[in-house]
Amino acid sequence: MDLGISGKRALVCAASKGLGYACAEALAQAGAHLVIVARNEAPLRAAAEQLRSLGPATVEAVAADITTGEGRASALAAAARLPGGGAVEFDILVTNAGGPPAGDFRDWDDAIWHQALNANMLTPIALMRETLDGMMSRGWGRICNITSTAVKAPSPYLGLSNGARSGLTGFVAGLARQVAGSGVTINNLLPGTFDTDRLRSNLAAAAGQAEMALDAYTAKRLDAIPARRFGRADEFGAACAFLCSQQAAYFTAQNLLIDGGAYPGTL
Ligand code: NAP
Repeated sequence: MDLGISGKRALVCAASKGLGYACAEALAQAGAHLVIVARNEAPLRAAAEQLRSLGPATVEAVAADITTGEGRASALAAAARLPGGGAVEFDILVTNAGGPPAGDFRDWDDAIWHQALNANMLTPIALMRETLDGMMSRGWGRICNITSTAVKAPSPYLGLSNGARSGLTGFVAGLARQVAGSGVTINNLLPGTFDTDRLRSNLAAAAGQAEMALDAYTAKRLDAIPARRFGRADEFGAACAFLCSQQAAYFTAQNLLIDGGAYPGTL
């Protein structure tokens, strides 16, 4: 299916690996020009090379920490290096950052909470603030925030994620409706359990907390997923590209859960 976004300019955050990379890949396959961001230069460069090999899209790699003002400024400035770009002119924004650590609420002091809120709530809000007016003035834009299944069903060990991402979700629920008449959509993508580096480190931490062997704990987690497997990142990327498509123009303010049926609710 032609998604109608060939030549659009996309900023995909935290995109050298995992879900962010998969979103970048699906957007590149749809013909979008990309700025991708991650902190570590070598994997980021490798990711950019891989994306360039997929087709004619221009891919700019920005090695930066997206949770800092300076990092965001470098990422936004890179729009000018894309075909047809100018300062801060993205048509598509995919927000993402590393998730906060698992743990016990007793161990989280104010500094740890501020870090989680900054990465998983305030950073996406700052990026939307910087890009939305341009999208609205051009009458077209797509914003996808990578959040988590934790906003539908909290995870006992990921309280920082449950809290910070729910704050973002509440903010987006209002903002998306405020800008819906301007041709800009804002949606959240909620990953269930996807096979990425992040999942592997979370599984190890959770197995330790549950005092179980990793294999046994992983099998228990798989048992709780009706699809009987973890998600593949490319499946997530395809959903992101669809939400960024022309065809998805009437989807806004939605929270799309992709979890192999794990969430047990009817809605
Ligand atoms: P991942 O495989 O660990 O990949 C994380 C990516 O983000 C890497 O490219 C990493 O590169 C980049 N990154 C991390 N912090 C960054 C920062 N401050 N600035 C710029 N780039 C940064 O993780 P993932 O599984 O794709 O997860 C992505 C997000 O989805 C996380 O917030 C995670 O909590 C959430 N999530 C994942 C799952 C799952 O099952 N995988 C489920 C629910 C929620 P560098 O380290 O080089 O910066």
